Amino acid sequence: MLETVLLIAFSEEDGGLGRAALESVTAALSLGGTLVIGMIGGKTGRAAEQVSETGARVLSVCGEAFEHARYGTDAAAAEAIFRAVNPTLVIAAGTSRAMRSLPGVSLRVGGQIDSHVAGLQPGPVVTRWYYRQRMEAVVERSHRPWFMLVDPGVFAPYSEAPGAANVEECAVEVKPEFSRTAVLGRRAPKSEQQTIRPDAKVLFVAGAGWTKKQRDGASHTADAEKLILGFVNAAQASLGSSKSLVDLSGEGQDVLPFVSHLNQVGQTGSTPRHPKGLATCCHGEEPHVVGWRFIRERRAVNLDANCGWARGKADVLYVADAFDVMEKVNALLQERAAAAAASY
Ligand SMILES: Cc1cc2nc3c(=O)[nH]c(=O)nc-3n(C[C@H](O)[C@H](O)[C@H](O)COP(=O)(O)OP(=O)(O)OC[C@H]3O[C@@H](n4cnc5c(N)ncnc54)[C@H](O)[C@@H]3O)c2cc1C
Repeated sequence: MLETVLLIAFSEEDGGLGRAALESVTAALSLGGTLVIGMIGGKTGRAAEQVSETGARVLSVCGEAFEHARYGTDAAAAEAIFRAVNPTLVIAAGTSRAMRSLPGVSLRVGGQIDSHVAGLQPGPVVTRWYYRQRMEAVVERSHRPWFMLVDPGVFAPYSEAPGAANVEECAVEVKPEFSRTAVLGRRAPKSEQQTIRPDAKVLFVAGAGWTKKQRDGASHTADAEKLILGFVNAAQASLGSSKSLVDLSGEGQDVLPFVSHLNQVGQTGSTPRHPKGLATCCHGEEPHVVGWRFIRERRAVNLDANCGWARGKADVLYVADAFDVMEKVNALLQERAAAAAASY
């Protein structure tokens, strides 16, 4: 059966496609069949140029009403594009915007949907993880239309040079009830307060050991804070944490205020994707390390030569005091930054 594949892509504020959307272009191309791309956003011109080399037919729903994520307008736009194309497969990046709107569209058009798609093969065959990345399932469906939301970080971003694009505008009625939800502005933490960086090259995990009594019999959380944030900001690393560390606040213990449950990696936390990971003062127990499944190179610093990392869970374990190690690492990073500034 020759599939008609509709890629739904939401554009960024500048009218172009972000990394996750570009990855979904690669994913859509890997399916074969006839590709149609539907763009949704305030502006979509640059996005259409970015995908011109695919040779796909491009439809666009754009305008002020479609700039921000909002269920009513996003679902109406995606539904209009769907009905104009009548595809058998619909694919999109599994961003929060698509995860909120496309399940509703799938229901409206009688489709079935899979989220957290972690692999695609022609057929199509979808692979995805279950039970916190412990079991990988291979899914085939005979039902059409089949919607697929692809996890960011799985495919390489589409990177052909932009070219002239031929875009078909797709009209959507902006109903009065859509304006019940309005975006009044945006508040974001300052970049140094923003410690979760999905695109970072390094994941830095802090464990509960940072808050425990050290060699001198006292805990040193102020020093820990300085060392952890010093590294995370200098290396632009993403900050992960163990469950024990984030749970400490509930136990009334000395805590690191910048770590929340959002940072937790593991079975009941997240499973981030970064090329490298460094765990510090973290024991490396299975429920934590299961969240490291997609970290390609793993290193850990722990005082205990028998910690979990030593049992085949890390590529390299440094049996050392993380306070000493990170102080030295931060000093080297500072030296390097100073040398780079001097030669500029
Ligand atoms: C159902 C279930 C789900 C769970 N889900 C998760 C999850 O999603 N994520 C998660 O992280 N955990 C999870 N856990 C908990 C997990 O089993 C561990 O209890 C937790 O990961 C331990 O955290 P930790 O290694 O930071 O703390 P600890 O076990 O207290 O280890 C602290 C470590 O710091 C080291 N240390 C102390 N001082 C220093 C120093 N100066 N230098 C170097 N090393 C030092 C110590 O040697 C020790 O190994 C789950 C448990 C259960 C039962």
